[in-house]
Amino acid sequence: MTSILDYTLPELEAYFKEIGESSFRAKQIYDWIYDKRVFSFSEMTNLSVALREKLEQNFSLKLPEIIEQRVAKDGTIKLLLKMEDGSKVETALMPYDYGNAICVSSEVGCSMGCAFCASGLFRKVRGLEVHELLGQVLVMDQILDERGEDRVSHIVIMGTGEPFDNYDNCLKFLKIANDPKALNIGARHLTISTCGLTEGILRYKDEKLPLNLAISLHASNDEKRKQIMPIARKISLDELLSALKEYQKVAGRRITIEYILIKDFNDSIEDAIELAKLLKDIFCYVNLIPINPVTEKNFMRPSNNQVHRFRDALNERGLKATIRKEFGTDIEAACGQLRAKYERIKA
Ligand code: SAH
Repeated sequence: MTSILDYTLPELEAYFKEIGESSFRAKQIYDWIYDKRVFSFSEMTNLSVALREKLEQNFSLKLPEIIEQRVAKDGTIKLLLKMEDGSKVETALMPYDYGNAICVSSEVGCSMGCAFCASGLFRKVRGLEVHELLGQVLVMDQILDERGEDRVSHIVIMGTGEPFDNYDNCLKFLKIANDPKALNIGARHLTISTCGLTEGILRYKDEKLPLNLAISLHASNDEKRKQIMPIARKISLDELLSALKEYQKVAGRRITIEYILIKDFNDSIEDAIELAKLLKDIFCYVNLIPINPVTEKNFMRPSNNQVHRFRDALNERGLKATIRKEFGTDIEAACGQLRAKYERIKA
C-alpha cells in the first residue's frame, strides 16, 4: 500500500481534488502528521469518519520499527530500523553545538563497494522510498521528544547507500523536509554526500534550493582512489572536478570534501600537498575523517599527531581543513557498523 508520507503537499492536494474532496484536506493531514505528529488516520478528528476510513483503506502511515536503539555518553543516538519488507537500515543522530544532525541512509545496502566502508559489506538490495527516508527523521524526532531534546535540525544523507543512485527519492525527501508545512528544515541545513556520481552532481546543480553537497574524495590521485573506491575506475578525478566546477558555476555553494585518513596509505604530507593542488580551483573545505577501523577490513587510523600535521599542511596551503568530531565511539555508531554487527550475530 502507498504511504501517504510519499506525497508532497501539492501532490496530496491534487489527490483530494481528484477524489472530489477539498484540497484543504491535504493541509489538514500535513498538520496532523508534521505538526501534531499523529500517525494514525483514526485520530485525525477534523476529517469525517468516512474520509478517515477511506484513507485507512488506501494509504499506510506506518513509521519504521525500531529494532535496536543505542544512546552514547555524548548523546549520539544510533538506531537500527526495520522497514515493512523486513529490510534493516541504520540511522544516527549527532548532537552538534549548532543543532541535532541526523545521518540518513539512502539505500538498503550499497553497490559502491568502497574498501574502507562497513556498509558495502552488503550489496544494494534497493533504494529507500520517500516515506522510509522521512520515517528515519520522524522516528528520531519521536525519541528526541521523549527525551525532552530538540528535534532534528540538520539532515545529511550520508548513511548507508549512494544517494545519487536513488536520486529522485532523495530529492523529494529533501524537498518535503524543507517544506515549511512539513519538517521545515532550511535548505542550508540539508546535505547530500556522494562518492562522486557526476550525473547526479550535474542534476543537483539545477535544483532550485540552496542544498549542500559533500563529496567523498578520500584520495588525491586516480591511482590511489581506484585502490579504495571502485567508482574511480569509471569516473576519473578529472571528470569529477569538472562536474564540481559546473555545479559551482550554477549553485555557487561551497562544497564539503570528505577525506578519510588511512595510516600509511593517504596520510603523508606528500598526499596533503597533492590534495591542496588538486583542489586549488574548487571553492571547498576539507573534512578530515580519521578512519573508523572496520572489523572485516585491514585499515588503520593514523596517530593524532599525523592527523594534525595533515590538517596543518592543507591549511598552510590555503585549503581550509578541519578534523571531523567523533561521535558515539562507545556504541559502534560509525557507518554501517551496527547493521554489520547485527547480521554477523544472526549468521
Ligand atoms: N555514498 C555516499 C554516502 C555514504 S558514505 C558517499 O560516498 O558519500 C559517506 C561517508 O561515510 C564517507 O565519506 C565517509 O565519510 C564515511 N565512512 C565510510 N566508512 C568509513 C570508515 N570506515 N571510517 C570513517 N568514515 C567512514
